[in-house]
Amino acid sequence: MISQRVKNIAPSATLAIDAKAKQLKKEGKDIVIFGAGEPDFNTPENIKQAAKKAIDNNVTRYTPVGGMPELKKAVADKFRSFNKISYDPSEIIIGCGGKHVLYNAMMAVLDKGDEAILPAPYWVSFEEMIKLAEAKPVFCDTGRDFKLTAENVEEKITKKTKLLILNSPSNPSGAIIEPSEIKKIAKLAVDNNFYVISDEVYEHFAYGNKEFLSIASLNDEIKKLTITCNSVSKTYAMTGWRIGYCGASKEVINAMENLQGHSTSNPSNIAQMAALEALTGPQDSVRLMVKAFDERRKFVHKRLNEIDGISCIEPEGAFYAFPNIEETGMNSMDFASRLLDEALVAVVPGAAFGKEGHVRLSYAASMHELEKGLDRIDNWIKKK
Ligand code: GLU
Repeated sequence: MISQRVKNIAPSATLAIDAKAKQLKKEGKDIVIFGAGEPDFNTPENIKQAAKKAIDNNVTRYTPVGGMPELKKAVADKFRSFNKISYDPSEIIIGCGGKHVLYNAMMAVLDKGDEAILPAPYWVSFEEMIKLAEAKPVFCDTGRDFKLTAENVEEKITKKTKLLILNSPSNPSGAIIEPSEIKKIAKLAVDNNFYVISDEVYEHFAYGNKEFLSIASLNDEIKKLTITCNSVSKTYAMTGWRIGYCGASKEVINAMENLQGHSTSNPSNIAQMAALEALTGPQDSVRLMVKAFDERRKFVHKRLNEIDGISCIEPEGAFYAFPNIEETGMNSMDFASRLLDEALVAVVPGAAFGKEGHVRLSYAASMHELEKGLDRIDNWIKKK
């Protein structure tokens, strides 16, 4: 009796593994969790205070569907100063998390029969969102270093192409698309008139001399076609608050708002007040978290390459490592499930991200947990 639409989609592997690992931990098992990507830091104090104040001041009623005007203005200011994109507040929508704005954006622009180019490896929910919008995902390989090029995209363009998904820094690979390629990709989108969804949730997590560039900042033509999606979840350790935001043309924003008005209505206004403080208050906590992730990234990259049968390219951004495990002789599903059962370490199989032969480790965990988990992986493989 369940709809075909829902029967066609797979459960979220990242959330399923996270739930299983957390359940085992609750049962008293000493699990090391490298599963879902969520900062291990607490939400900064000033942000928590803003939410408490909102409750005390009775900011507890409906807000406009697409978010509070003050928050839209703060988002527009942030887009202008950090991303160099000039969006009017009427070109902004606030949703219930990054996932929600991405979902609404796809529902707003995709129709049955449309093709959406999805560079692989990709975050688990992109494929299912495209399918829910009744469009066809067209997978696009990114080669050994996972760095998308304009050439990769060009090969997949057809008359039916309506959308390209960009996610740089990437979940799950950590790769950052080179600015020179972003420029060429923008030209392809404009010449072939398709939309680009740019998921920029890891924008702050670009390490070393790697440069992050928002595609919509390049010129007005590509800005009109781009739907720039983001959230406060990763940057401000606010995963549970569920606030995402998006900048796009008024036409797209109005369509998304229409859809949102019949589903969630406004995101929690208490969480919106917290997000307002996150974007406009002191930013020191972001710098501290990025610095800590960078140290962990270097450690994880080095340690993974010391393990027999595992090799890992250096992640340039986000907080994931995506090592190759082919030499262990196991496929990614077996590797992940046996690692959890036999060595009590949770990782996500690459197959869920459209890339067999790999697993994803989130290094948004403490140094102590990282050392412990990687030692366990090393010993577990040695025993095989
Ligand atoms: N985006 C994070 C991840 O990939 C959180 C879980 C999810 O929403 O998929 O692990």
